[in-house]
Amino acid sequence: MMTFPYESINALHTRLSAASRPVIVTHMKPDGDAIGSSMGMYHTLKQIYSLAPKVTIANPAPGYLDFLLPESLSDDVLIYEQRPEETRKAIHDSDLIICLDFNAFHRTDTLCEILENAPAEKILIDHHLSPDSEKFAVIFSVQEISSASELLYQILLNLPAIDGKASNLPHEAATALMTGMTTDTNNFANSVYPSTLEMASKLIEAGVDRDMILSKLYNRSKESRLRLQGHVLKDLMTITDDGVAYVVLNKETMRQYNVEEGDTEGFVNIPLAIDKVLMSIFVKEDDGFARVSIRSKKGISANMCSKLHFNGGGHENAAGGRLYMPGNIADISEAAKYIEEHTRDFMNI
Ligand code: 5GP
Ligand code: MN
Repeated sequence: MMTFPYESINALHTRLSAASRPVIVTHMKPDGDAIGSSMGMYHTLKQIYSLAPKVTIANPAPGYLDFLLPESLSDDVLIYEQRPEETRKAIHDSDLIICLDFNAFHRTDTLCEILENAPAEKILIDHHLSPDSEKFAVIFSVQEISSASELLYQILLNLPAIDGKASNLPHEAATALMTGMTTDTNNFANSVYPSTLEMASKLIEAGVDRDMILSKLYNRSKESRLRLQGHVLKDLMTITDDGVAYVVLNKETMRQYNVEEGDTEGFVNIPLAIDKVLMSIFVKEDDGFARVSIRSKKGISANMCSKLHFNGGGHENAAGGRLYMPGNIADISEAAKYIEEHTRDFMNI
């Protein structure tokens, strides 16, 4: 069990015990780790600290995470896109804001300005590089860990009421944390540490149903998603001489395949299975910009590539960013040329 400085755990526990209107915030376009860590915290605050927390996010979660977000919790999970005023008020009126799975306010998109102006103290629990430290009263920032969900699990174990025993966690929190760790490690394929496997072992022992989680996460695809995956790999993937595989998905193709939020999740990982591919870039057209996902093999920094060429960042081997249109490129048809030119420079530094 990872032990944190006594002062940090104590500082967290003191604040949770004193809070009456806690708000949890996670990053825009939430993934499994964002929702897993947020709901892990939510159920802990509710059941261990007898609080009535709100979870706030810029956009709705993708459908495959619906089992963590039952209808009965819809009043407590506020999506800015759907309920802007309620979300703004919750954050503004909060007396403790817990930030999970992001390192800087801009990663919350439409919530950024509200967070900047919110008077409450903020706590950060995150596993990304370079946290925006001066914005937070208490910081838990660890990079040698699988996910924000695992980090939160370690923190919760150190709280007095949990007393080092996974079986003392609320069952819903345990399920959410297992889910977040599972998706951020791509089902134990990357960023797995001894502590990650120990967490999985303890949570299963505590009664978490991993089979249920896996079938909810991975066995509910729409047919169109798999057909799109086939089209992407067969017709849209290019591999450069420098070992960069890239795919540009434009709106026209997304319309054809009826693509919804989350449908392309994980596609960026697949080309890394090819021997000669060192880095994979997946670009998806949006309004006024294109969303960029980057994954790399050991020795190549996805984080640096994103920082230098795609207006973003992230982890060493998994990063994201944007191409502005106009700005970096006039429109999506120029994305391929941009990627070719900029990755040629990047791979040959
Ligand atoms: P994904 O490709 O799954 O969207 O993102 C991979 C990682 O990169 C995530 O851990 C995320 O935190 C980070 N990331 C994604 N988009 C951005 C971005 O626009 N800016 C920064 N700084 N990080 C990003
Ligand atoms: Mn994460």
